[in-house]
Amino acid sequence: MGRLTATSPPPARARAVVRRLTATYPDAVISLRYETGWQLLVAVVLSAQCTDERVNQVTPALFRRFPDPTSVLNGSVEELEELVRPTGFYRNKARSIWRGATYLLEHHDGELPRTTRELVRVPGAGRKTAAVVLGEAFGIAEGIAVDTHAGRLSRRLGLITETDPVQAERSLMVIVERRSWIAWTHLLIAHGRAVCRSRVPRCDGCVLRDICPEGRQRLSVARRHPRARPAAPRDSSRAAPGMVSSWTDLTSSSTPTASHGTPTA
Ligand code: SF4
Repeated sequence: MGRLTATSPPPARARAVVRRLTATYPDAVISLRYETGWQLLVAVVLSAQCTDERVNQVTPALFRRFPDPTSVLNGSVEELEELVRPTGFYRNKARSIWRGATYLLEHHDGELPRTTRELVRVPGAGRKTAAVVLGEAFGIAEGIAVDTHAGRLSRRLGLITETDPVQAERSLMVIVERRSWIAWTHLLIAHGRAVCRSRVPRCDGCVLRDICPEGRQRLSVARRHPRARPAAPRDSSRAAPGMVSSWTDLTSSSTPTASHGTPTA
């Protein structure tokens, strides 16, 4: 096999991305803490417009009080709201957790289903949440969770062009080997936070620069115009790197912005 370049076929470059980022970030895993699939689902819901760190501060007490869907329905929404309040948008999040618990008890005896088709029917869960929960809690790779970082990096690497997460996931599932679907998100999140940041990617020190079209372009501009300011990102994904969690499908567009808690970032 010849040397890979920025114009090599996307599947070959995707394999190289996995190989190199695995070597660079051997400990890249989800930072939300949980013990069961239900708890992971709840943590993902809470991570909307909130940092994983803040979610991890809230969940120990929350999971002690509400370890499973049954305990949620034996409690009250008001108690839920109080416990999740520090994560922001707490009324909406508490309602999602309550509705999710109700749905799971009515349709799945309180257990989490293990297919994307069934999981996306749980209130508060969409394809991204389903991919995260199935991959993390059960080791089932049925999709790729395309969060802010995974989407931005996949586009910069020229592997996909889509900005819509569902379309982006569909394209990535063709390009990325299935055995790497779960790791893909974690590796790209780690790299997006450390190096390929939204506003100013650090292309000169990036382990992917020889296979990245955008990196090649940015480095070429920097060489020709050494005093030029870094180019503005072509992406619209401008979440503060390393700050706001990007796991959840419960985004700001579905989160009330008035009188329902305060966004934390
Ligand atoms: S070369 Fe630059 S744009 Fe490409 S992945 Fe690395 S940091 Fe991101």
